[in-house]
Amino acid sequence: MNDDPSRDGPLRSAAKDVIAQDRRHVWHPFTQHGTEEEPIVIVRAKGASLFDCEGREILDLISSWWTCTHGHSHPKINAALARQAEAFEHVMFAGFTHEPAVNLASALAGLLPGDLNRVFFSDDGSTSVEVALKIAYQSWINRGEPQRRMLLAFDGGYHGDTLGAMSLGRGSQMFSPFRDLMCKVCVLPYPGTFEGDKAVGEREAGALSAFGALLAERGNTIAAMIIEPLLQGSAGMRMCRPSFLRRLVDMAQASGVIVIFDEVATGFGRTGKLFALEQAGVVPELVCLSKGLTAGYMPLAATVARDGLFDAFIGDSFGRALPHGHSFTGNPLACAVALASLALFEEEKTLERIAAINTRHRTLLAAVADRPDVVRPRLLGSMVAFDVKDGGAYQSDQSRALRAWYLGRGLNIRPLGSTLYLMPPYCISESELSRAYAGLVEGLDAAASGVLSRP
Ligand SMILES: *Cc1c(COP(=O)(O)O)cnc(C)c1O
Repeated sequence: MNDDPSRDGPLRSAAKDVIAQDRRHVWHPFTQHGTEEEPIVIVRAKGASLFDCEGREILDLISSWWTCTHGHSHPKINAALARQAEAFEHVMFAGFTHEPAVNLASALAGLLPGDLNRVFFSDDGSTSVEVALKIAYQSWINRGEPQRRMLLAFDGGYHGDTLGAMSLGRGSQMFSPFRDLMCKVCVLPYPGTFEGDKAVGEREAGALSAFGALLAERGNTIAAMIIEPLLQGSAGMRMCRPSFLRRLVDMAQASGVIVIFDEVATGFGRTGKLFALEQAGVVPELVCLSKGLTAGYMPLAATVARDGLFDAFIGDSFGRALPHGHSFTGNPLACAVALASLALFEEEKTLERIAAINTRHRTLLAAVADRPDVVRPRLLGSMVAFDVKDGGAYQSDQSRALRAWYLGRGLNIRPLGSTLYLMPPYCISESELSRAYAGLVEGLDAAASGVLSRP
């Protein structure tokens, strides 16, 4: 990329201009603009790597917020996107339909277990959760059980940043300015676990008995329960065991509680199976999908409902229908990309690649397990994580300094508070992984020796 030095000058000054305009006009997500470093201007991406305006390579070790699956700028997905753009880019989705959306809906119904057959499209993880919440809530009104209004979620759970999703994620402690705006949600204990955890059984029993007590006391007033299956992402890659999830779902469903699986982060291979629910062997009433759905290309989400839930909305008045929709519902470009991504899972034997990444991740865990500053090692599918003892809180100076250190060495690693994790795109090579592990450990050493502390 840098083989023509004469291009370097104009490129760099173009980048300066981008940064200046960014500073003037852009409000970034999860960013304190008073303290944030200069953003990096990306001009190209390929496979597991991003390239900035100076040709510097950055390994995307968190898959650009867990969205990128097969790698950046994949030729087959690019081609599918271009093909669909030639045909048509978008059409409103009420009263109209099209092949990309229909094919994607049938493909998802075919991949998901049981009668999870009905797909409502929206735009991102948060909207997929809003839709699930509204379907669950209204279904009880439609079925003549309006006393079922209570919503359950888990301590540490995160479901997005819109109001309903924030309310369900109130256990994440992220949203204190908005407390008064949120709807009421009852938060249950979450038995997070890790490799070699001896007390997990006890914590699970505690969580299940708290849930059982609530069901016994107020079971017929509970509308729905939402959980990130197996892996709470934003809370710091907190894992629970499939057997716990199964017992939880069994108890909920025995009491008629609608179970919502938020697979926005876990879907499309992250946990080693296409969907985390496969590992628990359960069929929730609703599943939320987004992030990896379009391989990280574009915003698209799906809320998939079981047949019985959909049936509760059928009638001859609009009053029973779901009054919800978005301008870009079922966007054909995004659906075409999602279909191309699903085809790649077959063609590239992606789940085998994920299994190989999982095996490699073990070598990292073995290398850091004995460090006095590493606790709670965790491994699931393509994700590996551990906590740094005395690591900083979310966006603390300490965790931001560590992030900057990694970026300076060409590694996109973004600590979640004291949690360090890797969740690479599935195309990552052996040598790229080795580079990632070596860099990760070097960063730990730098942090331990105090090199990172800011003036
Ligand atoms: C990221 C995430 C969301 C929110 O998705 P957005 O696309 O950021 O709105 C919801 N649930 C989970 C589990 C997530 O990880």
